[in-house]
Formats: sequence, C-alpha cells, structure tokens
Amino acid sequence: MVDLQSQYLRIKQEIDAGIQDVIDSAAFVKGPKVTDFQHHLEAYTGARHVIPVGNGTDALQIALMGLGLRPGDEVITPTFTFIATAEVVALLGLTPVVVDVDWETMNMDIASVRRAITPRTKAIVPVHLFGQCADMEALMALAEEHHLYVVEDACQAIGARYTFANGETKQAGTIGHIGCTSFFPSKNLGCYGDGGAIFTNDDELAAKMRAIANHGMVVRYHHDMIGVNSRLDSIQAAVLDAKLPHLDEYIAARQKAAAYYDEAFKDCPALLVPGRQAHSTHVFHQYTLRVTGTDRDKLREGLAERGIPAMIYYPVPLHQQKAYLDPRYKDGDFPAAEKLAACVLSLPMHTELDNEQLEYITSSVLALCRK
Ligand SMILES: *Cc1c(COP(=O)(O)O)cnc(C)c1O
Repeated sequence: MVDLQSQYLRIKQEIDAGIQDVIDSAAFVKGPKVTDFQHHLEAYTGARHVIPVGNGTDALQIALMGLGLRPGDEVITPTFTFIATAEVVALLGLTPVVVDVDWETMNMDIASVRRAITPRTKAIVPVHLFGQCADMEALMALAEEHHLYVVEDACQAIGARYTFANGETKQAGTIGHIGCTSFFPSKNLGCYGDGGAIFTNDDELAAKMRAIANHGMVVRYHHDMIGVNSRLDSIQAAVLDAKLPHLDEYIAARQKAAAYYDEAFKDCPALLVPGRQAHSTHVFHQYTLRVTGTDRDKLREGLAERGIPAMIYYPVPLHQQKAYLDPRYKDGDFPAAEKLAACVLSLPMHTELDNEQLEYITSSVLALCRK
C-alpha cells in the first residue's frame, strides 16, 4: 500500500543528518528540533500555533480537553471513519453523536449534522476523510449559528486546501477552532514512529492545550489543570523537518497517481471513482473506489493473487462497532455509511508509484471486473 523505503532513500542524507544531530545533542525530548519543526509547520500551514504532540489520537483528545467539555456534552462526528474521534470522545466521558456521510465524497453530511444538533451539543469533529476537506464553509456557518466548536480531524489531509466563497483559501486543520493531524508513518507527512500536532489560531486555547500536553503544567511542577504526557520526540521532529520541504511534491505525486486511476476507471461500469468535494483540493491519503458492479471481496482476493495489496477502509461504521453499540442507533440508520462500508476498496497510494506499477494495478483491476 505504501513504499516508505524508496521515499527515504531519495532524501536519506537529509534525514540521516537530522537524526544524527539529535543524537549528538542528546536533546531527545523537547529539543530545538521540535521547535524548529513547529515553526516550519506554522509557516507551511498558516496556523498561528502548532503544538507538536505524541500522535494524532492524543491531538484529538487534548483538543477536546482544551475546550473544557464536560461529561454529558455531545460531540458530533461521522460514523464512517477511523475510530479515533469517537474513542477520545468516549474516553473523556462525553457523548459521541454520529451522523451519516455523503455517498460521493464520503465526508460528513452537513444536513445530517444539522439534524443531530441538540441543546447538549458542544462540538463537531469533521474528518477530512482520505485527503479532502469536508464541506467546511457550510459546517462553520452551522457551528456559528449554534455556538459550537469545530475540531477538524485533518490526520489524512495535511496540505489540502479549502477555498471559501469569498476566494479566501485555508489549509485543512486551520479552518475550525482547532485542527489535529497525525504523523503516523503512512500518513501524507509521516515520521518513523508516532507523532501528531494540533493547530489553532487562538492564543488562549493554544496556551491551554500546550499545558495539557505537558501534564497540565505551566510553571514547572505546578499543575493548573489535569493534563497528559504527549510529546513529539526530537528524532521524529528531525525526520519530519527533513520531509516537510518535500510535502508539496509528495502531494503532487499522489495526485498524479490518482489522475491515472481516475482515467483508467472512468468507463468501468463496476466501479465508481472517488467523488470530489467542491472547493477542496484532494491530497489522496487514500484512493478509494466504490465497487458497485462486482464482488468487492473477490476483486480484493484477485488483486492479492497478483501481488497487489488493496485495503478496506473502513469495514464497520462506528455505530456498528461492538464497543460503541448504542440503543440510540440501529442498522439502517446511516444508509450511505453502511453502503460504503460494504463496497469501498482502497488501492495502493503513495509517492513512489510509477507508470509501470499503475498500469499493472489498473489493468489487473479492469480484467478482474470483466470476469
Ligand atoms: C491516523 C488517524 C488518526 C489517529 O492518528 P494516530 O497518530 O495513529 O493516533 C485519527 N483520525 C484519522 C482520520 C486518522 O486517519
């Protein structure tokens, strides 16, 4: 699905030098590399504050802690996504409220969000699924109307750009009150272990979340609030700082591979290519087909026999996950999400795909669909 080795070899010198610097300085935790990377990422994203943390899930948890939400407060998130958003909501004793997604873009459906708002709703957590922003202009307007916070899960969408009706553009993760991202190795900007970051333009929230990520500590050994221990380590920051200048090239390589897939599959009656979200670029963390005219699992097996990995992101929506079963929800409540879970298939997507590989993958998919 990904080829991190070839990507490393192309910038081996920069990465090795960065890691060696950290070892030489022995500043493994909270070293200058972390601050350098923070500033470079602030410049890249346009976020006023970047807070490096231990991983993307921690970023989401610290964001919700920073908002001071209380048990019983409702947080709205899409049901077709990775588990992290619902997980941190549940861990904090908040109430996850799930909504359906759009069949085309697979992103949170804004009309469903509107219907899910109650007097207890405090925040909305959109997920920019597979690399394109949710409909943020409509979502921010809805949030403002109801005085709700918006925490963007931009773990799959770093570098995606959203254009507002007035022509203004902003990066994924910098539109809501808080944005979160992950540097898990396979993410579009991945490190060599775990890592994550929080984005915000709000000075007060930034100071609070920075303290929460560091045991709730502002002055050493004085704990003003309950916190956690979540930090990006210096070696990971060195890797990320070496990769960040290449992020736009990486995105372009993914977009080029996606265009190849789109063109190859556009007339195949068994498949639907990923729908595009109006006003957002797509950075293709995943290229996800909807397999509507042939057996998805057989197609996947056929590809595996030809040495082509294909993955199902995600096979079970949140409301059907064992740990999150809830009498408020039953099968059939979220038709688009349930249909997607039954038909999605993600193809190999990374920065190192060449035309020969793409030709092999696409001709294999098409041949299996014709069978
Ligand atoms: C990867 C991911 C996360 C969690 O990131 P980690 O760094 O693995 O904790 C959260 N949400 C989404 C949508 C993700 O893809």
